[in-house]
Amino acid sequence: MSSYLITGTSRGLGLTLTTCLLEQPKDQVRFVAAAARTKTSALEALIHQYPGRIAFIPLEVTREQSVHAAVGKVQEALGASAGLDVLINNAGIMPFVPEGIIQATNLMSTFEVNVNSVQLCSAAFLPLLRKGSKQLVLNIGSILGSITLAPSMAPYPTSTYKVSKAAVNMLTVQWALDLAKEDFTIISAHPGWLRTDLGTDQADLAVETGAKGVLEILDKVTRADTGKFFDIHVPGWDS
Ligand code: NDP
Repeated sequence: MSSYLITGTSRGLGLTLTTCLLEQPKDQVRFVAAAARTKTSALEALIHQYPGRIAFIPLEVTREQSVHAAVGKVQEALGASAGLDVLINNAGIMPFVPEGIIQATNLMSTFEVNVNSVQLCSAAFLPLLRKGSKQLVLNIGSILGSITLAPSMAPYPTSTYKVSKAAVNMLTVQWALDLAKEDFTIISAHPGWLRTDLGTDQADLAVETGAKGVLEILDKVTRADTGKFFDIHVPGWDS
């Protein structure tokens, strides 16, 4: 019986992860804290469909005050003595930078949403995660953050996003190292190129495929995997 907090659940992958989790039996997924800036009609529908198993948590991930308020709301929803089992840092933006990195002016704003939010949310929810039963944190990464693959990814004009997702991987490793003694499992994962607002309708995969792939990784991951990057496309990642 696990509890989850997911950021960026208004639409896209975050919304689909929330839906897929709630579709699982109640004795496996007890509760999902669906954090978002806006309670969209899709979230309203889930709240109506799964009473008691989902709570909307208002959250603007770049604002420290909002993050701290969210911790209080999640604790309230879970009950005073309960902890949080799994945190999924999913909220993200991918601005287009057709002029290239030399002219780019949005590195800092991209980092605020894609990187610093992971730091803020992970730090703020750490006490609740310590009280939980899984100590599991998933940061949604991207193969666009791969330094090795960068030359082949050059046609995608999203340089600042690529830098931010490379940083998410290092942030994941730093957290994994610092929390290794506490048996935390902190990973990042590429969900595939998905048909969402961010991924566009040109993408390879339905968002449900990405969400299911990500949840499969979460199910199989062990503490020995902490600090690793996973890709839903790579078979045998867990061997
Ligand atoms: P979408 O654009 O569909 O959704 C992005 C989500 O992030 C929305 O819920 C949005 O909320 C939220 N968000 C953005 N900025 C903030 C903020 N400042 N505070 C709170 N929430 C915010 O993108 P995806 O669902 O496709 O992407 C989700 C994650 O998956 C991202 O981290 C992305 O980098 C990653 N990813 C996606 C891939 C793809 O092909 N789609 C591939 C690889 C990784 P709001 O509605 O309020 O704007």
